[in-house]
Amino acid sequence: MIIQEKSVVVVGGGFSGALFGLKLHRAHPNWRIVIVEPKKKLGRGVAYGACGSQHLLNVPVSRMEIGLTPGFAKWLEPRRNEMAEALVESGLDLPSAYAPRRLFGDYMEERIGEALAAKTRTGLTAVRGEAVRLLSQGRGVLLTDGREIRADFVVLAMGNLPPRPPSGPDNWLYDTGYFVPDPWAADAFDDIDPDEPVLLIGAGLTMVDIALRLADEGHRGKMLAVSRRGLNPRTHKGGGAWVPFLHDKIPASPLALAKIVRAEIEKAEAQNIPWQRVFDAARPAVASVWNNWDDKSRRQFLRHLRVRWDIHRHRMAPRIGEELDSLLKNGKLEIVAGRLAGFQEAGNQVEATLKLRGGGSRVFKAGQVVNCTGPGNDFDKIAIPLVADLRERGLARADSLGVGFETEDCAVLDANGRPSSWLFALGPLTRPAWWEITAVPEINIQIDRLVAQLSSDTPAPRLTTADFLGMGEGI
Ligand SMILES: Cc1cc2nc3c(=O)[nH]c(=O)nc-3n(C[C@H](O)[C@H](O)[C@H](O)COP(=O)(O)OP(=O)(O)OC[C@H]3O[C@@H](n4cnc5c(N)ncnc54)[C@H](O)[C@@H]3O)c2cc1C
Repeated sequence: MIIQEKSVVVVGGGFSGALFGLKLHRAHPNWRIVIVEPKKKLGRGVAYGACGSQHLLNVPVSRMEIGLTPGFAKWLEPRRNEMAEALVESGLDLPSAYAPRRLFGDYMEERIGEALAAKTRTGLTAVRGEAVRLLSQGRGVLLTDGREIRADFVVLAMGNLPPRPPSGPDNWLYDTGYFVPDPWAADAFDDIDPDEPVLLIGAGLTMVDIALRLADEGHRGKMLAVSRRGLNPRTHKGGGAWVPFLHDKIPASPLALAKIVRAEIEKAEAQNIPWQRVFDAARPAVASVWNNWDDKSRRQFLRHLRVRWDIHRHRMAPRIGEELDSLLKNGKLEIVAGRLAGFQEAGNQVEATLKLRGGGSRVFKAGQVVNCTGPGNDFDKIAIPLVADLRERGLARADSLGVGFETEDCAVLDANGRPSSWLFALGPLTRPAWWEITAVPEINIQIDRLVAQLSSDTPAPRLTTADFLGMGEGI
C-alpha cells in the first residue's frame, strides 16, 4: 500500500524528539519532518547535554541500543580510549561498561547531524526556536519569533518540566542570587565560590550529579544535602538473575506491591542473588501495574512509596557509587534527613535552619543553595507558554496528579478525554499512562509504535503494557 506523503512537526529535539525524527525519516525519507528545538545541539536534551566527563550512564552500553546504525557499542569501539576507566571496571567488556553520558550525547548528535546533512526540500530539517502555541487555524505550531510551521501531525517531545523551587516558609530566597533554581542551566555555577559551603536541596540522582560535578571542579567548601528522608540512590551490582514475578499478578495497591517486592528480595538474598535483580525483573511490568491502578493507588504510591522505589529502581553506576561513598567518608558531603524550616541572610551567606527528621534542628551557613529536587511536577499549573496554551484551549489535559498529559497510545487526550487524531506526545510527558516512561529503553519502544502508527492509513496495533513486558527484564 502507498502511504500518502505527510508532514510532521516535532516539538523538542532532546533524546525523544531527535530519535523519533530519525526513525520517522528512516521510514519515510520523503516526508517533511521538522524538529523544533531552541538549543544549538540536537539529540542531547538535559540528560546527555548538561554533563561533564564524570557523569556516567546509569545503565550499561547494551541497554542504550536504540536500533540505529551503527549501534551504540559499535560506534564506541574506536572510542575505547575515551572510556578507559569504564572498561577497566567492566573487565574490558564494552557492552557491560557504564560509559560517560556525554558519549551517548555525541552518538545521538552525530546520528541526527548525518540525517540533517542531506539538504533536500523534503526530508528531515531542524528549526532553532521555541514553540509557544499551536496554530489557531489549521495544524502546526507558532514559534516565539512569530514563525509558523504547518504540518499534518504535531508530536510533543518537550521532556521533563524544569525543576521548581521546593515549597517552604522562606520563598524570598528563591528570588535571590543565593539560589540556583536549575542546576542544569548553563550559568548555574558561575557565581560559586569554591571555598564556600553549599546547601543541596534533595538527595536523589540530581544531587549526586551536582555533588560529583562540584567535587570534580575542585570545590573545597562543605556540601550538605537535605531531603525529607535523607535517602540517596543505591548502586548497581552485577550477578544472578531473577524470574519476572509481576507479569501475571498485578498488586492491587502500593502496599501490596511493597509486600511482594520485599518477599521476593528476601527469597533472592537467601540464594545470594543481589536484590537489584528483583527490581530488574519487576521493571518491564511497572507500566502494567501503574496502568491498572486507580488514581487513589497512584496517589498513595507517589506519597508513600515513590522515594523508596526510585532509589532502588534508578541506581548509580558502581563507579559513581564509589565516588559518592568517598565524598561521604571524607566529609566533603553529608546527607541529612530533614526539612528546611527557614532561611536568613548572614553577611554574604545564607543561614538555613533545618528541622531534622529524628528531632532537633541544625543551622547551616551556605554561600549557595542549589535546587536538586529533580524535574518539576505541576502540569496542571505551570505557565510555560506551550503547556499553558494546550491546557487552556482544552487541547490537552494534565492528569489529576499533575505528572504529565493524558494520552491514549501516544495520542493526546483533549479536555473531554477524546484522543486526538493529529496531536501526539512522547517520553516523560506521557507519564500518566505508563509512569515508567522516562528512560531510553521504554521511550524507544514508544517511538517505534508511534512511527508505525503514523505510517499506516489503517489503525495500527496500539501501544500497550504488553509492549513493555516484551522488553524483558534488565537494569
Ligand atoms: C540527568 C539525567 C540522566 C539520565 N541518564 C539516563 C541513563 O543513563 N539511561 C537512561 O536510559 N535514561 C537516562 N535518563 C532518562 C532519559 O534518557 C531522559 O529522560 C530522556 O533523555 C528524555 O528525553 P526527552 O527528549 O523526552 O526530554 P529532554 O531531554 O528534556 O528534551 C526535551 C527537549 O525539548 C526542548 N523543548 C522544551 N520545550 C520546548 C518548546 N516549547 N519548543 C521547542 N523545544 C522545546 C528542550 O529544549 C529539550 O531539548 C536520564 C535523565 C536525566 C535527567
